[in-house]
Amino acid sequence: MKTLANYLEGRWQNGQGQDAVLVDPVLGTPLAALGAQGLDLAAGYRYAREQGGAALRAMTYAERAGLLAKISQVLQANRDKYYDISLQNSGTVANDTAVDVDGSFYTLGYYAKLGSRLTDTQWRADGASDALARDNAYASQHIQVPVRGLALFINAFNFPAWGLWEKAAPALLSGVPVVVKPASATAWLTHEMVKDVIEADILPNGSLNIICGRPEGMLDALDTLDVVSFTGSADTAAELRRHPRIRLDGVRFNAETDSVNSAILDPKGTGLDLLVREVVREMTIKSGQKCTAIRRILVPEALYEQAAQAIAAKLAGVVVGDPRLEGVRMGSLVSPSQCKAIKQGIEQLAGACDTLFDGRTQSTLKVEGDQHACVPPMLFGVRDPDTHPLVHHMEVFGPVATLMPYRDADHAFALARRGQGSLVASVYGEDTDFLFEAAVQLAESHGRVHLVNESVAKVQTGHGNAMPQSNHGGPGRAGGGQELGGLRALAFYHRLAAVQAPPAVIDRLNPTK
Ligand code: NAP
Repeated sequence: MKTLANYLEGRWQNGQGQDAVLVDPVLGTPLAALGAQGLDLAAGYRYAREQGGAALRAMTYAERAGLLAKISQVLQANRDKYYDISLQNSGTVANDTAVDVDGSFYTLGYYAKLGSRLTDTQWRADGASDALARDNAYASQHIQVPVRGLALFINAFNFPAWGLWEKAAPALLSGVPVVVKPASATAWLTHEMVKDVIEADILPNGSLNIICGRPEGMLDALDTLDVVSFTGSADTAAELRRHPRIRLDGVRFNAETDSVNSAILDPKGTGLDLLVREVVREMTIKSGQKCTAIRRILVPEALYEQAAQAIAAKLAGVVVGDPRLEGVRMGSLVSPSQCKAIKQGIEQLAGACDTLFDGRTQSTLKVEGDQHACVPPMLFGVRDPDTHPLVHHMEVFGPVATLMPYRDADHAFALARRGQGSLVASVYGEDTDFLFEAAVQLAESHGRVHLVNESVAKVQTGHGNAMPQSNHGGPGRAGGGQELGGLRALAFYHRLAAVQAPPAVIDRLNPTK
């Protein structure tokens, strides 16, 4: 069995012992071991800052954008290999692998293009200058300069490819070296991509590093001016926030956590077909293991039964099982432990809700043996969502959603807000006034509001897809973080300073003013 080594200080290093063994979640066979105990993390981080950071910062934005384009080329040349790893380690069908692997290529390509248009400076002017004295004799100009520390990414298991590159693209474009710690269960794909990029010798030494496992002291070794971007559960985020480097020393921390996202049908039900299609897609893509997946479906009271039947009818046609087998549309969960956790979550919801579709008895399961982590879709329903706090709070990270009726538009928006801050809400219907109202009402509690009518049915980008053009993140329960959103993503990897200076300096800092 192979061991996934760690890459720090410009060399591959094995940790002491084994932190975890990765398994094929369909066949149950071991795939790789990983371990990162006993590494000299302080030395590794120092090398990243001093070698990688210095070399990256010496380049312009456009030059670094060129590096992203080269990374994308190297990765695309290995696409088939990544699909195979994803199938073995995450149990995904090809369409689901595409969301992760091809999604990472798209995001890298997007930032390569965006970066190629940036100025050839080593700072970014932020807005226009503002006079501080009469006749502009003295002025204030905000500038953004790259962070001199490193960016530590602590990632979730569900996006081993995209989860790395959606963070690394804006970090490297900003001139900030990266240390990625993928989730142990699916670390192989992240590891393979990092290995391919290192071997291609594209980046300056120390710019891209990987830790496979969960070593002691990963946060202790940080400096005050490093940054941490975390993706995972709200519980882990809370634990990391209590670490002294973050709580006391002010290490910048971004958290993307779990979220009980909703999809809303318009009061007249004109978007029913669109909603049903998207709900089924969201419940089954990556077996519902997407932080952005639809967990709550809000429909007008009069359409509750019709919506339930339409969603159930489509779910009944989804064949679940071994992604190697012909006709299987939904693969497995990523690991036996996730399978156990999802089954427990299903039991909890079943105890509090009506079961509207039970994939355990109504789905076609195509898989050999009983080692697999395949869980068929489940649709629950509550007739009185105001009195069911569990469905607004509990994220079951699998192919599971709950249908609920609303009385009027205000009730629908209030129910969506009961997620206590979500990554995304989507709204379906032909009434432009309702779509507009939803945007204004939901923006405060949602990082993204996705509005769909028939005219955009073919071009809309999907409820659950985090497009690099749009903000990804959400307030409150969703972690309070921000990622992507075009050039907004660069802000996390820059420091903002106000420069108060004579006009001759201001003119050089912002020649375009
Ligand atoms: P998790 O258990 O919180 O783990 C996330 C990462 O944190 C993993 O790399 C894990 O390492 C690491 N970790 C756990 N405890 C740690 C500690 N004490 N110190 C340092 N690192 C620690 O989450 P998950 O189960 O991988 O992911 C599923 C969750 O992520 C879901 O709730 C989902 O909603 C959320 N998610 C959110 C987003 C978003 O963008 N908002 C995206 C994807 C997923 P090990 O794997 O080695 O334990």
